[in-house]
Amino acid sequence: MSGAVVGGDVQKTVLITGCSSGIGRATARAFNDEGWTVYATARNPADIQTLGEEGCELATLDVTEQDDVDRVVDRILDEEGAIDCLVNNAGYGQFGPIEDVPVEKVHDQFDVNVYGPHRLTRAVLPHMRRERDGTIINLSSVAGRVSFPTGGVYCGSKFALEAMSDALRAEVDEYGIDVVLVEPGPVKTDFSARARDEVVTDDEDGETTDDGGLDRSGAYEAFYDIFEDTEAIGGGGVGAVEPERVAEEVLNAASSTKPNARYQPGLAARIGVLGRFVPDWLRDKGFATIRKFTS
Ligand code: NAP
Repeated sequence: MSGAVVGGDVQKTVLITGCSSGIGRATARAFNDEGWTVYATARNPADIQTLGEEGCELATLDVTEQDDVDRVVDRILDEEGAIDCLVNNAGYGQFGPIEDVPVEKVHDQFDVNVYGPHRLTRAVLPHMRRERDGTIINLSSVAGRVSFPTGGVYCGSKFALEAMSDALRAEVDEYGIDVVLVEPGPVKTDFSARARDEVVTDDEDGETTDDGGLDRSGAYEAFYDIFEDTEAIGGGGVGAVEPERVAEEVLNAASSTKPNARYQPGLAARIGVLGRFVPDWLRDKGFATIRKFTS
């Protein structure tokens, strides 16, 4: 077992990405309250200052920057001698009809949601393998198990994260390393506001403009109407849970000697993932019915 020995107790170390808000911030607090050494990271250090005041170690880390990843992992290994748990939390939702989303935006989505966790995983694995211990927890989503119209790019990124996590779990099992997926349904965070910003933009008078960075074909206007309602996607949805509920599940997984492969925090998530068992024809029929009512 790795981790520094403090007063007879083994103090474990966790590295968490995307701690400026929502699930990442709540997760940093949950681990800190349990006595872990927490390296809370964010793109902008000012956003995590309060976590520093609460006792977390802070580091600047943009998951799309390999140099940031290497610098932070090296620093933690220097200071603590161990990284017992990595929580790949940083992520955002790029929504939009497949035809309207420019390739650059698809790339950006995968750079954060898929390549980011991959960069961090590759950086911590040599150490975890040496220790023959460690847990990697990837924040996926119900959207990593069930895809839906206008969610194709985001769902694609989370499906990719799920596939890579399943492969990794089998690859590193023999080194005593656990790989866990946490699959929330809607969570009350900034996620939906950020997702909206990637699709529609408001002008100075608060009026929604066409320009959200998508290439609007004009074929899917009903979708954009839905997006003007911020609550439509993510956080404000039916059955939304608090980020602390997700953090609790992440901490449970990290603390378990034999964690499950997947955790779904909250009822909506547990029901949502069952959507993958619905036959394709029935799911398509359901989406067609919803489209009829919204257009
Ligand atoms: P959030 O409040 O918007 O937090 C997202 C975090 O990711 C922020 O700290 C953001 O930092 C960070 N981030 C984005 N791009 C980054 C980058 N390039 N490098 C480092 N950090 C970056 O949303 P959240 O709900 O807590 O989301 C956390 C995770 O949960 C995401 O992976 C999301 O896909 C997943 N999830 C959320 C929901 C939901 O309904 N909220 C449901 C299922 C899964 P900045 O402040 O710097 O942008």
